[in-house]
Amino acid sequence: MLELRGATVNYGNFSAVQQADISVEEGDIVVLLGANGAGKSTTFRAISGLVRLVSGEILFKGDSIDGKSPDKIVQMGIVQCAEDRKLFPQMSVEQNLMMGAYVHRKNKKQIRKSLEEVYELFPILYDKRTNFAHSLSGGQQQMLAIGRALMSKPKVMLLDEPSTGLAPLVVEQMFKSIQQINNNGTTILLAEQNAKVALSIATKGYVYENGSIAVEGKPKELFSNE
Ligand code: ADP
Ligand code: ADP
Repeated sequence: MLELRGATVNYGNFSAVQQADISVEEGDIVVLLGANGAGKSTTFRAISGLVRLVSGEILFKGDSIDGKSPDKIVQMGIVQCAEDRKLFPQMSVEQNLMMGAYVHRKNKKQIRKSLEEVYELFPILYDKRTNFAHSLSGGQQQMLAIGRALMSKPKVMLLDEPSTGLAPLVVEQMFKSIQQINNNGTTILLAEQNAKVALSIATKGYVYENGSIAVEGKPKELFSNE
C-alpha cells in the first residue's frame, strides 16, 4: 500500500535518511524505532510531502507521491499526526475536530458520523467538547490531534512519537486506542523510542541507526535482537 524504495533525504549537505526501504501493507501497524536523531521524523516528512527525496521513490497504492503537495497527499489518504502538527488553542475541542474534516468537504451527516466515531474512541473529548484546546492536558491534546487526523478518514495514519510526554498509564491507554483505530480499518505507521510498548501492537518493525535501516522484522524477531 505504501512503499519507500531507496528513499534518501538531505538537509543541506547532511544526509538524514539514506536508502530507506520500507513496505507497509494494508492493515499493518508498522513501527519505526531508533534513537533521537536517527531519521524517523524525516521519513515521515518525506511521506507527507514536507521534504523532497534526493533519490529513491515513495509509492502510495502504486502512485508516486513525488512532487505532490502536502494537502494533496492528505486527500490521497495519508495523514500525519506529529508534535509539530499544532492544534488551534483558541478553538474548542469540537471546532478542532471539525477542522480535520474540511479537506474532504464532506456533508454534515458524514461529519457528524466521524465526530461520533472519534468521541467513541476518546470519550474524554466528548466530555470536553466545548472546552478550549489549550485547556486540555498533554495526553488529551495528543488524543485531540489524533482525533482531528481521523476526521479526514485516512487510509494511512503516520503517528510520530504519540507517547512522548505522557504518563505510563496514559501511554498504555494511547496504544490501546491506536490498536482500536487500526481495527477500525486505518493502516498505521508509527515512530517510537519506546520499543517495548510499540512492538506489543506492531505487525512489523524497522530499526533506524544514523539515518539507515539497520534491522527489520517481525516484533518477535526484533525483541530477540534487543
Ligand atoms: P528522529 O525523528 O529519529 O529523532 P529526525 O528525522 O528528526 O530524527 O532527524 C534526523 C537527523 O536530521 C538529526 O541529526 C537531526 O538533527 C537532523 N535534522 C532534522 N531536521 C532537520 C532540519 N530541518 N535541518 C537540518 N537537520 C535536521
Ligand atoms: P523530532 O525528533 O521529532 O524530529 P527534533 O527535536 O529533532 O524533533 O526537531 C524539531 C524541529 O527542529 C523540527 O522541525 C526539525 O526540522 C528541526 N531540527 C531538528 N534538528 C535540526 C538541525 N540539526 N538543524 C535545523 N533544524 C533542526
